Amino acid sequence: MNKFTTSIPTKAQDIIQKALQNKRYELLEPEAKELIEAFGITTTRHTVTSSVTDALQAATALGYPVVLKIVSPDISHKTDVGGVKVGIRDDAGVKIAYEEIMKNVNMKMPDARIHGIIVEEMAAPSTEVIVGGLRDPQFGPAVMFGLGGIFVEIYKDVSFRIAPLEEYEALDMIHEIKGSKVLKGFRNTEALDITALAQTILKVSNIMISLEEIKEIDLNPVIVYPKGVKAVDARIILSRL
Ligand code: ADP
Ligand code: MG
Repeated sequence: MNKFTTSIPTKAQDIIQKALQNKRYELLEPEAKELIEAFGITTTRHTVTSSVTDALQAATALGYPVVLKIVSPDISHKTDVGGVKVGIRDDAGVKIAYEEIMKNVNMKMPDARIHGIIVEEMAAPSTEVIVGGLRDPQFGPAVMFGLGGIFVEIYKDVSFRIAPLEEYEALDMIHEIKGSKVLKGFRNTEALDITALAQTILKVSNIMISLEEIKEIDLNPVIVYPKGVKAVDARIILSRL
């Protein structure tokens, strides 16, 4: 163990082993969220449900508004198949969203195995960013940071570092992207919690260093607030060794 790694949470190792035993090389969203939580990354509270009745109960327990999303080992981009409904405000909305998601998925991916529908607290809107981890064939574990949406997809405005990182490197990653002004506050917008964001980048670095089975992590998006951050989606891909 070097100075960058803390002890590896047993829960994280269990999640990976269970997936590998089932020959699944992409964790389900609830598994990926449990894994990153074990490393101290804040995510949305959630419950996986398998009927409208379950989903209604979960939504009431979480409190409205909620988000519903498909949980399937065969679907990694949930929006693409109509598998995400945000901003659901009441019981009627849960029923409609649940049925629409099932209908969309059955139509677009009739062979997909469905593990259920995740009901999540709806995180308040703020600036969305992406924090990623990958294993470069030449340089080994690395981390990536960028602003969400078109900034990454069209402008490729991202920064990379080889893991493990020191805190100053995580801060540099945030400051060096062209769009970093968005995070620092201008005119009427409040400055966002760059310290918490840097900590999230360090935690992803720690995950990549600690768990060699992980090939790729994609926290897209992480929502950044004036105080704190929250990962609302998590995708983790395992190596086929
Ligand atoms: P995917 O990337 O697989 O299409 P996401 O889980 O990222 O699915 O959901 C799509 C979008 O919906 C996110 O980029 C985010 O803007 C929004 N979203 C998802 N979950 C939540 C949530 N719990 N709270 C607020 N917004 C959410
Ligand atoms: Mg996403």
